[in-house]
Amino acid sequence: MPSIAICWFRRDLRLHDHPALTAALEAADVVIPLFVFDETLLAGRFASANRTWFMREAVAELAAALEARGAPMRVALGRPADVVPAIAGAIGATDVFVTRDAAPYGRDRDRAVAARLEAAGVRFRPKRGLYVHEPDEVRTRDGRPFAVYGAFRRAWEALERRPVLPAPARIPGETGRRPDAVPAVPPPSADPALIPTPGEAAARERLERWVRGPVDSYADRRNRLDLAGTSRLGQDLRWGTLSPVEVAARAAGPGEGRRVFLGELAWREFYAHVLWHSPRARREPLQAAFADLAWRDAPEELDAWAEGRTGYPVVDAAMRQLRASGFVHNRARMIAASFLTKDLLLDWRLGEAEFMRHLTDGDVASNNGGWQWTASTGTDPQPWFRIFNPVLQGTRFDPDGAYVRRWVPELAGAPAARIHEPWTMTPEQQAAAGVRIGVDYPMPMTDHAAARERALAMFAAAKAGASPVASEPDDRDERG
Ligand code: FAD
Repeated sequence: MPSIAICWFRRDLRLHDHPALTAALEAADVVIPLFVFDETLLAGRFASANRTWFMREAVAELAAALEARGAPMRVALGRPADVVPAIAGAIGATDVFVTRDAAPYGRDRDRAVAARLEAAGVRFRPKRGLYVHEPDEVRTRDGRPFAVYGAFRRAWEALERRPVLPAPARIPGETGRRPDAVPAVPPPSADPALIPTPGEAAARERLERWVRGPVDSYADRRNRLDLAGTSRLGQDLRWGTLSPVEVAARAAGPGEGRRVFLGELAWREFYAHVLWHSPRARREPLQAAFADLAWRDAPEELDAWAEGRTGYPVVDAAMRQLRASGFVHNRARMIAASFLTKDLLLDWRLGEAEFMRHLTDGDVASNNGGWQWTASTGTDPQPWFRIFNPVLQGTRFDPDGAYVRRWVPELAGAPAARIHEPWTMTPEQQAAAGVRIGVDYPMPMTDHAAARERALAMFAAAKAGASPVASEPDDRDERG
């Protein structure tokens, strides 16, 4: 009897550098690839048409690549704790290989699946692959988790990286079987033409283009909203159409651009590390001092923010970019998140959920980490008085207003000197620009200076005894 192993794919939708697949091939005569459309996730609190569509397309491409190498894929729909043991039992598998998951839901799911498999005498074999270094292997000298990024990054850099594994040329699969059909899913809510092409082949092309040149300008261009200065590999790392170990290996080399880029990969791993050690952060502020912040209740203001109608052009551009394309530039994510939490004093969890509804790269750890960082409830070593000024941020990172013009077409005719504060245009300037502020485009929904004072007071009250120290007026941030 040939030995049979299952390779259960989840957010590792690739053939290159896949330790679980490589291990399955070494362990068994026949390898059966499996993908489960997980009902719990598809209907869960962070369900997203954009991500489901991207995932489905990547799974379909993977199924074709596996079949071409000899292994038809099995595809199921249901709860993994039911489906995976049932399939393993039906085909007589001895082992189920997976890429080890790190987020709270994935960890709980895998515990449940492993328990059922082991009760039936099937081994559950998690392997690395989602991160360069596993979230629990980066530690302080005395073995504790890190609370701040800088020290985490130094420890992360110091760890040895495993070599990149080749894609298997052949995979001995079930003979005489057609791959299961990959079910259709609803279309994305964003314009599919604006979503990077799903799948490993397109992801590898993006990586090649990036490391051949643009990465070297990353340090200078990454914060500019009006330039395509970032890698756009987020969704590929999220869905594992690229391996982070391979991305890090290909991007390594001399120069500030590469150094800063690797630092951003380390941010991704830092947030996974934080959530691994503090899974309660997925619903609660990481800093206990801010457990009882008096967030306001203002659903209309939340809607205005989510729909890009705040009257602050750079905030509105960010939120419209999110809905239209399923992506937002990192700087714009920070500006929009700061506006929601500091200017409107609305709970970061509302913003977190709105981002998760649309982001193709939406990832529980990175999104939660980014939101808590911006809301000052998380890992930012700068305290709670970091408050982004949307006009200054826009002027600095979108100097000619090209980003705003692209996503807020009402302002396309506004002069660069006024585009980030269009309410200061005279009636003549508005007529020349073809826009009436307050009619075609809203007046600002808050006065930033007053909102800032209100936020300082709220955070000061929460942090009993702490005094509100004024932020730098240009709210420069320290991030890499
Ligand atoms: P690049 O600048 O080219 O960076 C390369 C890769 O490094 C990214 O693809 C990503 O995997 C990682 N990375 C870069 N910056 C960060 C960061 N600050 N934190 C974690 N990883 C990072 N990133 C997500 O992948 N998923 C999310 O859901 C997510 N939500 C965010 C929410 C907020 C409020 C903020 C401020 C940031 C969030 N980020 C998230 C981080 C960052 O904005 C995106 O990773 C980045 O914009 C993706 O574009 P890119 O691939 O061109 O990035």
